[in-house]
Amino acid sequence: MDWENRWHPLLEQWVTITSHRGARPWKGSVANAANAANAANAANAANAANAANAANKEPVTAASYDPDCYLCPGNTRISGEINPDYEEIFVFDNDHPSFDIQAPEPRPSAPFYKSSIASGVCRVMCYDRHHQTALGQLPVQQIQAVIASWVEQSRLLYQDRQIKTVFIFENRGELVGVSNPHPHCQIYGVPFVMDTIGRELAAVQRYRQQHNVNLFSQILRAEQEDGRRILFSDDHWLGFVPYFARLPYEMYLMTRSDFSDLRHCPSGAVESMARGLKIMLAALDALWNTPQPYILSVHQAPVADSDTSDYRCFIQIIPLMRAPGLQKFLAGVETGAGQFLNDGSPEQKAMELRQAQNRGSGGV
Ligand SMILES: [Zn+2]
Repeated sequence: MDWENRWHPLLEQWVTITSHRGARPWKGSVANAANAANAANAANAANAANAANAANKEPVTAASYDPDCYLCPGNTRISGEINPDYEEIFVFDNDHPSFDIQAPEPRPSAPFYKSSIASGVCRVMCYDRHHQTALGQLPVQQIQAVIASWVEQSRLLYQDRQIKTVFIFENRGELVGVSNPHPHCQIYGVPFVMDTIGRELAAVQRYRQQHNVNLFSQILRAEQEDGRRILFSDDHWLGFVPYFARLPYEMYLMTRSDFSDLRHCPSGAVESMARGLKIMLAALDALWNTPQPYILSVHQAPVADSDTSDYRCFIQIIPLMRAPGLQKFLAGVETGAGQFLNDGSPEQKAMELRQAQNRGSGGV
């Protein structure tokens, strides 16, 4: 079993080897010959309808409780612990963590290579007792409770002086590889600055040095002045498809206030954030009247040796479909070279999302 961080000398980032997690319980999609064939066909427009069915497969049953689900209230998890009979929010330490305070010492490697203990905290947060629901389908008040819990978890984890990044994310849908359909997100606290967050922080610091202006303010202003890509706007938050979107339908919900991490989120901004999230997630599902697979992540400032005061908290939502039945694959140029090719105009995609908002129950 290999479980450790390994330093990637070319990309200057940590890669976490978690071979112990290969055998974790899996209730998600299983690749087999038939699925592989469907996936291959997804690239073919003639098979788009089939792929749509495969990608956005409706649950076999619409049960609100699954006796085999390790996240449903009252069920026993692999650790032997029994979930409480919770109603809304339920947080626990992941039974199969990628990072843990009890992670083993790294194995010896060639002196040139660098490794470290995969230390940290991994938590799971269920949003609701019902097995078949989704974050965007919850009432605003309950989404507010989810966000309040994100704030609380960020406070708790940042109290540990070793933790440098608190990263909260939700994988939704089988296409994203979610291991259990029960609506939940995950919270990682790790003793290093995660790569993307570190790059963003370096960019705002460089921008401050070069222009003496906050980079996030510039983005907000540019989006506001153009206006075509805006999906949600109030005193606290701006929701938009960014001008520089790397993937079709990529969305940001960015604070207008000057807080860098969730610990400092003004209480008045939580309700507004919940409203913005609901509107944007509902628009996504209303696009093609089907639940959309996505990756949602909360970007917040790390604890760093350098100044983080210019960083601004934002939510990033990355849907995985680029058209009905067509998955956006991260293929050679994206995965191999990190060069993203976005085959949808951000202005066009924002317009489609706004039309979906108006058509569907995008309002709250
Ligand atoms: Zn469940």
